[in-house]
Amino acid sequence: MRIYPVFIPHAGCPHRCLFCAQDRSTSPSVVPEVTAVPDVNTVYNWLDSALPLLKDMPRHEAIPLQDGSEIAFYGGTFSLLPLSQQAQYLETARHFITCGRVAGVRISTRPDALDDECISRLIACGVTTIEIGCQSFDNSVLAAAGRGHTVADNSSAIQRCQNAGLQVGAQLMPGLPGGDDDEALMSLQQALELKPSFVRIYPTVVIAGTGLAELWASGGYKSWTLDEAVDVCADMLHLCRRVDIPIIRLGLHGDPQLEKNLLAGPYHPAFGQLVRSRLWRRALFKTCPNNEQLTIDHVGVNPDDLSDVLGHRGENRQWLKTTRPLLRVMADKAVERGFLRVNGQCLGLVDL
Ligand code: SF4
Repeated sequence: MRIYPVFIPHAGCPHRCLFCAQDRSTSPSVVPEVTAVPDVNTVYNWLDSALPLLKDMPRHEAIPLQDGSEIAFYGGTFSLLPLSQQAQYLETARHFITCGRVAGVRISTRPDALDDECISRLIACGVTTIEIGCQSFDNSVLAAAGRGHTVADNSSAIQRCQNAGLQVGAQLMPGLPGGDDDEALMSLQQALELKPSFVRIYPTVVIAGTGLAELWASGGYKSWTLDEAVDVCADMLHLCRRVDIPIIRLGLHGDPQLEKNLLAGPYHPAFGQLVRSRLWRRALFKTCPNNEQLTIDHVGVNPDDLSDVLGHRGENRQWLKTTRPLLRVMADKAVERGFLRVNGQCLGLVDL
């Protein structure tokens, strides 16, 4: 599935959450030289140039596009934009859906900005997926972050969108003030109990100009280190894989604007790979707990998993070299993705 993101930084939002710098952490528009929320013509022109042309699509004469690709409006509170602006954006998206160049449209918004009437209107305008900024399922963490909504709002919004037939994604932010590893896992557990279609996880970072930056500068907030965040997110990934709910994104997208304004926190452009590799390292550790008693000389993994198993810039390969120099990791097409073959036996990453 391919997403064509249109960023509308902070547009429509009546709040200013403690950590929020939507207008500082993402480049403001689909077109770099445009510095405001993009108008509908800009969005149309960008989509027209970015979306595949019908002639380039396989089997386009026979059926409309079925690959699930979506136009996404991210970075603001879409459902609180003026109704006329929502309608214009969605009409533009609908044009590309109708002519078969994309399958659907998704928006991101706050949980308390989704009453039943709003959900029906969004569906009538062609919205197929909604990403809901839950951030935490702990009321004290939500209050400390100045979110202005509660855990009950999170649950209610997810359930009502699901009941209306939408695909629903839950966005979570581990590492907010007052949150710790246990809170991150509890929040994820509660989100997963609601059976969202997918989860998106952004560990908290400190961006210049935010309330969180002031708190951090005064010593009132300590951001997670990269290693702590990778470790907690590896637990979160493991939990999601056990219940077969995908995490569609781990960590913030790399963006020059974000990197320019980042003050502290576990940002890494390859954060997702660091997390996946941490899970593989744990699996290798469990399979071969120590070098002295090593009874195997290699493990097999699917070739498509090899780069995650060896780690970002080979960090797991280096770890193996230091701690288990006799152990080799080998690509083996016969091993399913997400499994290790050890002594002829295949072990699932989720079971280790
Ligand atoms: S709800 Fe979203 S856009 Fe609004 S202030 Fe909070 S993080 Fe920013």
